[in-house]
Amino acid sequence: MVDDIQKQCRVCGHQEFSMWGNRDGLPLYQCKNCELVFFFPYPTQEELEVYYNSSYHAERGYGGSGNAGQLRKQMYELDIKDLEKKLRSYGRFLDVGCAEGVFLSMLNNRWEKCGIDISQPAVEQARQKEGIEAEVKEISEVKDNSFDVVHLRGVFEHMLDPLEFVKISNQKLKNNGFLVLSNTPNIGGLVPALFRGRFKLVIPNEHLHYFSVRTMHTLAELGGFVIKDITYPYFGSPYCSFWKDMIDIPINLVTGKMSPPFWGNIFTVYMQKI
Ligand SMILES: [Zn+2]
Repeated sequence: MVDDIQKQCRVCGHQEFSMWGNRDGLPLYQCKNCELVFFFPYPTQEELEVYYNSSYHAERGYGGSGNAGQLRKQMYELDIKDLEKKLRSYGRFLDVGCAEGVFLSMLNNRWEKCGIDISQPAVEQARQKEGIEAEVKEISEVKDNSFDVVHLRGVFEHMLDPLEFVKISNQKLKNNGFLVLSNTPNIGGLVPALFRGRFKLVIPNEHLHYFSVRTMHTLAELGGFVIKDITYPYFGSPYCSFWKDMIDIPINLVTGKMSPPFWGNIFTVYMQKI
């Protein structure tokens, strides 16, 4: 038990934590009730603003250019296939953290596509280059009951208050609408459980919260959703080299390296509004 955190879990409100790991000396704690893992203390809003400076998006290949951008596009294709299988009908689609709009541009045009992001240059590029209806906006500013899908790809783990976000998403969705938390790090997977602070998707200042299937069920229950499906993107992705990854798990563990990609490292959670 860790006594020195006078803090409530930002998902379930419980106050008992255990030490889960650390990255570069920064401690990670885990809620004993819902399994949420988080860095503590949290970065301040000012620190986050410095972190998400104007070059954040360009450096990460979200615009679809360069090698990183190409790999990302291949992942989007797989994600979209999965999404269309699970959602079956079209409607109004909101991508939260849409960046330069590359994901939205690849989505079937039968969707009515909208995007929001915190980055003005990214949003401008989404509008001009991809022709996407994108705005700099918080989800709280979106009209209530107006979307069939609220989608976040690799974005949910950046949120300072995940439960608050899930509750607001619920208000913005129409009845039976879906909240899709795509490509989120899964702290319940085999590799994160083995590597802890050396799990590659543990990133201080950027990924503030880490979820397991249990955390997701808690979020759904408290936020007015039911989980309809969970998928684990890995096989068929450009990051998958199954046999190499299998061998790298024990090697990287004993040599102190970061974790390799593997099945179960990330998940996509489909929650339906009830
Ligand atoms: Zn909790």
